[in-house]
Amino acid sequence: MEAKATISGHTELVGLMAYPIRHSNSPAMQTEAFRKAGIDCIQLAFEVDNTTLEDAVKAIRALKMRGSNVSMPNKTVVGQYLDKLSPEAALIGSVNTIVNEDGVLTGYCTDGIGYMAALKDMGIDVKGKKLTIVGAGGAATAMQIQAALNGAGEISIFNVKDKFFEAGKETVRKIQEHTSCKAAIYDLNNHEALRREIDDSAVLANATGLGMKPYEGITWLPDVSYLHPDLIVTDTVYAPPMTRFLKMAREAGCRFMNGHPMMLFQGAAAFKLWTGKDMFNV
Ligand code: NAD
Repeated sequence: MEAKATISGHTELVGLMAYPIRHSNSPAMQTEAFRKAGIDCIQLAFEVDNTTLEDAVKAIRALKMRGSNVSMPNKTVVGQYLDKLSPEAALIGSVNTIVNEDGVLTGYCTDGIGYMAALKDMGIDVKGKKLTIVGAGGAATAMQIQAALNGAGEISIFNVKDKFFEAGKETVRKIQEHTSCKAAIYDLNNHEALRREIDDSAVLANATGLGMKPYEGITWLPDVSYLHPDLIVTDTVYAPPMTRFLKMAREAGCRFMNGHPMMLFQGAAAFKLWTGKDMFNV
């Protein structure tokens, strides 16, 4: 249905609660998808940080909103204010989508689901495959745990020895305890291990901020000889669209994608949770 977007007394609302958030494309994307699907609903962005999060979540119930997206700095904090968590959100320890069903709020994490969908869109099913994923922050954890939940055979995590390294160790522990996937973490400065783990991986992912401002033009990959042409190389960074990391992948003859599909598919997964509909087929 192609109805013109109009707001009436019946129009429903989903939120996007984060700070900063004014730069986000999500409200335009979700509202356009609602319009195309003939659903009288819009998304609005709200500047919400940890100090106002509890009240903002209460408003979802009070205003009978369909739900909300949640981003930084609220993703790892919001779970305590919700009624239920999906299995992946509980394991990842992060929520980016809230669904309101008759006042019962459930938290989901669609970041890893979006990454899996982006890989699938490239024709890759992670089942039984080995992935090397560099990073141990929010995006990396979601990708690593979702890949394990989706049946990946082995995941090698690399991170510098900063405050995130412990989080990476915890991810390894969770994967080993809750899935049948093998997992290990290495220091990103261990180049011998990096070369060895990449050698028999099907997927190599950058899930650090290297490549985007203030790290534009920088990558942790020492040189192009670490890559092989059968490797699928992915970057969570989408601005700029071609990072130094992806340029090296192109040079090595690898198939590659930037972070845009992951972002798109995580939004589509949230849309599906709110509406039951496929964003790309409305
Ligand atoms: P985060 O702050 O939770 O984690 C940062 C990660 O980068 C950690 O692993 C940290 O160790 C690493 N890091 C930071 N500085 C480093 C350095 N100098 N050298 C090596 N490693 C370094 O961040 P996040 O939320 O996980 O985001 C990571 C990246 O993913 C960002 O670029 C973000 O924009 C992007 N992202 C993309 C999507 C998407 O949908 N495409 C979703 C979430 C995040």
